[in-house]
Amino acid sequence: MNNKHSQVIPVFYIQAAACSGCATSTICSYYPSLENIVLQDVIPGVKLDILFHPNLMTASGELAMEVIEEASEKNDYVLIIDGAIPTKDNGMYCVTGEKNGKKYTVLEEVLHLAPNAMATIALGTCAAFGGIAAALPNPSGSFSVDDIFLSNKIKTPLINIPGCPPHPDWLFGTIGEILTKGLENVEVDDFKRPKTYFGKLIHENCPNRAYFDEGKFAKHFGDEGCLYELGCKGPITYADCPLRKRNGNVNWVIGSGAPCSGCTQPEFPDFLGDFYERIIDVENPVKDKNQNKDRKVGK
Ligand code: SF4
Ligand code: SF4
Repeated sequence: MNNKHSQVIPVFYIQAAACSGCATSTICSYYPSLENIVLQDVIPGVKLDILFHPNLMTASGELAMEVIEEASEKNDYVLIIDGAIPTKDNGMYCVTGEKNGKKYTVLEEVLHLAPNAMATIALGTCAAFGGIAAALPNPSGSFSVDDIFLSNKIKTPLINIPGCPPHPDWLFGTIGEILTKGLENVEVDDFKRPKTYFGKLIHENCPNRAYFDEGKFAKHFGDEGCLYELGCKGPITYADCPLRKRNGNVNWVIGSGAPCSGCTQPEFPDFLGDFYERIIDVENPVKDKNQNKDRKVGK
């Protein structure tokens, strides 16, 4: 519904070093739909006014850059940053656009927009934790939004919504939570992830959990069983993917036979091992019981 008396919240969506996957995933939101998001109230009585979004806006070139320049005249806007922020060589490896022949880097835009924002959302694992864009050897010197805020003493409240890519519900649900409960009442974990979506391990809700507990592990793709031996990172990854699934609750990665790669974790991708490499031993009731059975007294 669109109410002409709705409160309007300006939103700036800045794309940093990323693959556009986060933008693509979130604008394919099932509910609220893109139409709800762009044209209607996102929650009753509150409308988002997406002023800058590289994939949605019709303006381009200098006209688009003017929107960011005029942001200082706005109050209480939400800043969404997707992608890690390159800092090497003054941030020249990621440029938002040009005006009067001058290139404006994402680093500059973030430093310009973040201090006056009501809240910042770091969308996707690259923005939240550095992710693939900051993976070793990190030739562009990219950092997460949190790191940039810390090194520049920016105090704007920050919420991390990781994922490679993030589920659209994680973004729009969190925006809804901010607007209904107030930013200070959105519960987050130690990595600033909303507990509503990142409060439980994948492994806790996985439909393959009974196989894991029984010690029935798939040895090859397509085998029946838990995907732990094939590299599943579900036992150490926090997200609600098994319950929420993707594409309007149709299916998700483990449901289609592939292991979870742990994409919502701060250790992703450098410190989780290869995609199909088994993570270090996770406690398994059957295996541990068998190990104990073989153990000799005193050994
Ligand atoms: S290891 Fe992976 S596939 Fe197996 S139960 Fe846990 S989350 Fe599911
Ligand atoms: S199942 Fe794992 S890899 Fe897939 S989106 Fe969820 S956390 Fe990321």
